[in-house]
Amino acid sequence: MKKGNLSAFFLALGGAIFVSLAAYLFWQPEREIVMDIEGHYENPFDVLSFEDILQRLPGSIPILQYHMIMTPHNASLLSPLIAKRPLLRRFILTSQEFREQLEILYQQGFRPISLDEYLALGSGEVSSLKRLAPGTKPFVLTFDDATYGQFDLIDTNSDGIVEIDPECAVGILLDFHNTHPDFALTGAFCIDFSKVPFLQPSYLEKKLNLLLDYGFEIVNHTKNHTSLDKLFRKSPDAFSREIGAAMEKFESYLGYRAKSINKIAYPNGRVSDQVKQAVKQISYKGKTYHFIAGLHAYGLWAPQPASTHFDPYAIPRIEISGKNFEKFVLLAPRLLTMPPLTEKKPQDK
Ligand SMILES: [Zn+2]
Repeated sequence: MKKGNLSAFFLALGGAIFVSLAAYLFWQPEREIVMDIEGHYENPFDVLSFEDILQRLPGSIPILQYHMIMTPHNASLLSPLIAKRPLLRRFILTSQEFREQLEILYQQGFRPISLDEYLALGSGEVSSLKRLAPGTKPFVLTFDDATYGQFDLIDTNSDGIVEIDPECAVGILLDFHNTHPDFALTGAFCIDFSKVPFLQPSYLEKKLNLLLDYGFEIVNHTKNHTSLDKLFRKSPDAFSREIGAAMEKFESYLGYRAKSINKIAYPNGRVSDQVKQAVKQISYKGKTYHFIAGLHAYGLWAPQPASTHFDPYAIPRIEISGKNFEKFVLLAPRLLTMPPLTEKKPQDK
């Protein structure tokens, strides 16, 4: 190498080292966002300006994430909790608000599809979506933490016979489907066991089975609602136990029907690349469980699974409150222009 070339080489090398060092020193990891009813959290929508968020909308399929529904039946339990922790309000809709949101979605042409149907779009399998009329748009309903007002059984007539509270989410969805038959009865319940799911211990087995009977999906939201990223770093065994022990619980109530539980919802939205890799296959007490997808606790519209941006282990969801519903669903610019889902013609394949 000539002397001139050698100097140029060292100059370039020095430059590269300087740039790498500067990038290392000044690069900030993305702000960690915690989004759940337990523990500390912050609103991811406060981090970005509204315009930033609108620009980032992938314009695909909204996956809505609900937490608590305040019903006339549980209001006396929920009100003191809210008085103590006013921030909880963000996670609560009233029955009436939930019903109104469904009606608005329906009027806007949205029709619910299941998570399985959403995922199947990745392989071009849209045959089960033929039920969507032309011009309608798919969306997915999810409910997290098996908490207040999602699925309540009540003894309305004090005759010892319990029935589904018509004001809880499941009751409202059943009624909505009856009055709007083209609004399929579907939705995913992301269930953890940090407390008794749905808060009525004696009806848990009945409820889990009823959910599957009706065609709802159940998603593994872990045994103790522990953030999986930290847990995996600390102990991969404890990580497997957190997911496997939840499967054991599901099996104890659902038997072989628990096999349908093949998706994870990350508690507090905490996930890392290691976790995304490790959840694909979990071994626990001699059994192996496979998970085909992982749901975030926050985000905007989810990409179509057929798109190149799609990561089945990082599926974004829109956390719904009254405000977010308006801003990030109703006012999302692509809501009215999103092309309807159509099946590929044979010659296109
Ligand atoms: Zn949760």
